[in-house]
Amino acid sequence: MKQLYNKDIYDVNKPVESYWEEVSSIDQNKYPELVGDQSCDVCVIGGGFTGISTAYHIAKNYGGDVRVLESGHYGFASSARNAGFCCLPATKLSTTQLIKKFGMEETKKFFSSQIEGVDLLASIISENNIDCEKVGDGNLDVAHHPGSSEELKEWGNELKEYFGINTKWIPKEEFDEVGHQSTEQFGAVFTEAGFAMNPMAFMRGFASATVDAGAKLYSFSRVKKWERNGSHKLITDGGSITANKVVVATNGYTDESLHPSFANRMMPVLSNIIVTREMSDDEFKLQNYKTLNPICNSREILYYYRRMPSNRMLFGTRGDTYGDDASALKMREFMTQKFRGVFPNWNNIDVDHYWRGTVVMTRDFVPAFGALDDDKSVLFSYGYQANGNNTTVYCGKKLAEMIYESNSGETNISKVYQGLSPKIPLGFLRLWYLRLYLWYSNFTDKSKKEI
Ligand SMILES: Cc1cc2nc3c(=O)[nH]c(=O)nc-3n(C[C@H](O)[C@H](O)[C@H](O)COP(=O)(O)OP(=O)(O)OC[C@H]3O[C@@H](n4cnc5c(N)ncnc54)[C@H](O)[C@@H]3O)c2cc1C
Repeated sequence: MKQLYNKDIYDVNKPVESYWEEVSSIDQNKYPELVGDQSCDVCVIGGGFTGISTAYHIAKNYGGDVRVLESGHYGFASSARNAGFCCLPATKLSTTQLIKKFGMEETKKFFSSQIEGVDLLASIISENNIDCEKVGDGNLDVAHHPGSSEELKEWGNELKEYFGINTKWIPKEEFDEVGHQSTEQFGAVFTEAGFAMNPMAFMRGFASATVDAGAKLYSFSRVKKWERNGSHKLITDGGSITANKVVVATNGYTDESLHPSFANRMMPVLSNIIVTREMSDDEFKLQNYKTLNPICNSREILYYYRRMPSNRMLFGTRGDTYGDDASALKMREFMTQKFRGVFPNWNNIDVDHYWRGTVVMTRDFVPAFGALDDDKSVLFSYGYQANGNNTTVYCGKKLAEMIYESNSGETNISKVYQGLSPKIPLGFLRLWYLRLYLWYSNFTDKSKKEI
């Protein structure tokens, strides 16, 4: 098995101690392990939102014979341990960079697909009556420094002018009243797209709906070996599935020894979350914290946070590059300090949950989607640059479309998504590149603070 971080990150027998895991009462044995040899039309490797969405749309829209093999329980990995933000866009490129690289039409198509993803996620929740604490009516990007306000304002204007997405600049004084107060609040852009949810509860409902639609889901069934002999044979400890087509939906948990085409193309980055104890209304008033919309700030190593319907604060950022259990303790302490730095009036509020997982960056900073050039029966989607919730469900739907509606293997998805991401040179050095980037970004964030 070839994965970047310490083995503790990938241990499916030790579910992450997330707040969601605690409150969502998961029946880990709901879906069986694969036993014996089976065959089907499409086999999906990985039961996160990408894999589930692919299977859901194949079964529901085309009545296709689809099975999902998942290493852990449904909810083990990033999809159900994330912050629950449904926002955009799934890229680290600026609008100017996107337009320069892909042209205006493809960039427009990309943004409209991101909105389509938001709407699709909302409609899956409502059509299947999934109770996942959906709250909010959009997203907020907060300027963490006076020097970032203009840049954010411009971003909001571009979304409106180029892509027809409703945005509004909220000056600092107004945001103090309607959003929150903090040491890093100098105005915010409101984007009228997206919401927040409990991702574990969504996962449970989505997996159930997928089975109801006719797909078969197997848990604790890691694909250990992949044989190609006419069709594909995916082998687990308990059995095997022979399939005409395979969808690789393993994102930040990809075992790079499984298929050579995916090696050294992903940069999994650990993202960390803390959640506080429940707070009273009076305690929220200490920071005048009102909004339930998810928030990202403008730091290079951004902070993301939200007030949860359960009256706790969730706060996240990136940082650790080791992934062993010992580094988790340090990271929890580091995160708590950062949280208190931003919200000093909550200095005495205890943090009672900490966890982490991987997000995938790519070398070209856009998602990778499609079928392999040398084997069109292997499809993939990964690299959402930490904005996966709307993008995974959208890409899963597009993968299903590509399999059942396209004879040529082409799809009408924006070119921003298309093809494998470029390989990262000297891939074994990826963690060192990341450390360098984190060090540099911390430095620029700090120097900005002192302006
Ligand atoms: C802490 C954190 C916070 C985040 N917050 C947000 C957020 O608020 N909003 C947002 O949009 N995005 C967020 N993200 C990113 C988002 O969670 C991901 O982009 C998204 O979940 C990716 O979904 P996926 O299905 O592609 O991958 P995953 O959910 O990671 O699923 C991949 C699955 O593949 C399985 N797998 C791997 N190898 C094998 C194998 N050989 N055999 C069988 N199964 C295998 C794994 O067990 C795993 O379950 C966050 C991520 C993290 C870690």
